[in-house]
Amino acid sequence: MLRVLRTQTLWALAGFTLFTAALAAQANPAWTHPFPAHRIAGNLYYVGSEDLASYLIVTPQGDILINSSLEASVPLIRKSVESLGFRFTDIRILLISHAHYDHCAGSAQVKKLTGAKYYVMDGDVPVVESGGKADFQYGSDPTTLYPPAKVDRVLHDGDTVKLGDAVLTAHLTAGHTRGTTTWTMDEVEGGKTLHAVIVGSPNVNPGYKLVDNKKYPHIATDYQLGFEVLKRLPCDIFLGAHGGYYDMKEKYQRWKQGDRDAFIDPAGYKSYIAEREQVFRAEWARQSAGH
Ligand SMILES: [Zn+2]
Repeated sequence: MLRVLRTQTLWALAGFTLFTAALAAQANPAWTHPFPAHRIAGNLYYVGSEDLASYLIVTPQGDILINSSLEASVPLIRKSVESLGFRFTDIRILLISHAHYDHCAGSAQVKKLTGAKYYVMDGDVPVVESGGKADFQYGSDPTTLYPPAKVDRVLHDGDTVKLGDAVLTAHLTAGHTRGTTTWTMDEVEGGKTLHAVIVGSPNVNPGYKLVDNKKYPHIATDYQLGFEVLKRLPCDIFLGAHGGYYDMKEKYQRWKQGDRDAFIDPAGYKSYIAEREQVFRAEWARQSAGH
């Protein structure tokens, strides 16, 4: 009897998780809506959906994928990679922007399908290895959990990831999660070297406690340090964890019409970071004043 009850409870829980995950995707149709894959510059390609950004860095020694996104995203990413004429199974290294399910829920599946090694910033390692349960904000929210994935290399601020002729630098820009990572790399296009920045996330989510946060006491300091890093990074090509950060759809339309400089946007990068910092500071001041 007890066993039957337990089985029923497990099934009910499993059903609940599936149901809520499906709801979350429905609430954000742009997350699962396919988008044409395209080359951004050099060996850097966009292989994400209409809003969940995934990037492919192609080298003769294999490829790097940034962001596995949702479990439902993996077949879309695979299609995007193949539409560019590359092989999904050539992915050797998997990286993420940060340990939230919309950027890393598909990691276990990508690892299984490609054999890629998973490199994650130290602060996010317990989160991805617990399938989201170690997250300071969402750990007990079943709608945000995902299959755990083992990390093969723990990254620290300033570490580089090298494969073939590609060199990526991991910048810790924490706050949004403890290990939020902004990736930078240089791309050569038309004889010019361009600095690409993939912003990890400077956003303060609804419900985040910036003051007296027992689970993440230094959250506000981490956000501040992150903004200092973001303001210092040289940026020609402005990219991010979501296409919405950098008006991906609008820039892609220009690119499609022949504007090969569509993704070069140093001014857009500066104003985005400045605006996000202002929003963070206003929220921090509001919470500090006890409202
Ligand atoms: Zn996030």
